[in-house]
Amino acid sequence: MGLEKFKKRVGTQNYVKLDLTHPPADGWSAFKQVLKRSLKGELFVGLWVTLREMINALFRGKMHTTQYPLEKLPISPRYRAIHEMLRLLESGHYRCIGCGLCEKICISNCIAMETRYDENQRKEVTEYTINFGRCIFCGYCAEVCPELAIVHGGRYETASEQRASFSLFEDMLTPIDKLNLQKEYPGFGAVSPNADDNIKKTPLAY
Ligand code: SF4
Ligand code: SF4
Repeated sequence: MGLEKFKKRVGTQNYVKLDLTHPPADGWSAFKQVLKRSLKGELFVGLWVTLREMINALFRGKMHTTQYPLEKLPISPRYRAIHEMLRLLESGHYRCIGCGLCEKICISNCIAMETRYDENQRKEVTEYTINFGRCIFCGYCAEVCPELAIVHGGRYETASEQRASFSLFEDMLTPIDKLNLQKEYPGFGAVSPNADDNIKKTPLAY
């Protein structure tokens, strides 16, 4: 609601404005003011509103609050929380190819990784950490990743006794026994389900 609309709403709802310019001078005046307002029903209207909402919440299932952490409100699929490293659904191998683009684009300089060539001359990620004490969750790393290997997940509760416990590659990687639960491709930085419809075909002249 815009400010103008809000002002109009205030003007049309017959709001009672309290006279704060002449506060009661003594206890007797204050008592008389309370009595006057109570008899006019203001106090009991307020109590009734409270009672009505309590009955609605307890007996009619109209609870307006969330019992966090037992209940959680749904978050946007593009919410940028703790990163997730995805696996290839076919083989279960991690998708990251160790290209280092995420490390280079990170404006907080909080991604550190080490790679080596394995016996088949394929690049292998030996170390990959994100310092979440520095990360500003800008999403650049997820956007730049050519393999859709790193995305932002929905885990936003980042409190821990040990900062290091968030940042290991293994912590972010989809557990192998939960591979069947990994969606292709969830989170910020992933392609949209109808991405193919939005890709323009390269003209033949090129
Ligand atoms: S979200 Fe931004 S700051 Fe955090 S690791 Fe990725 S690029 Fe770096
Ligand atoms: S940009 Fe993607 S593929 Fe490249 S190192 Fe980062 S996570 Fe791995």
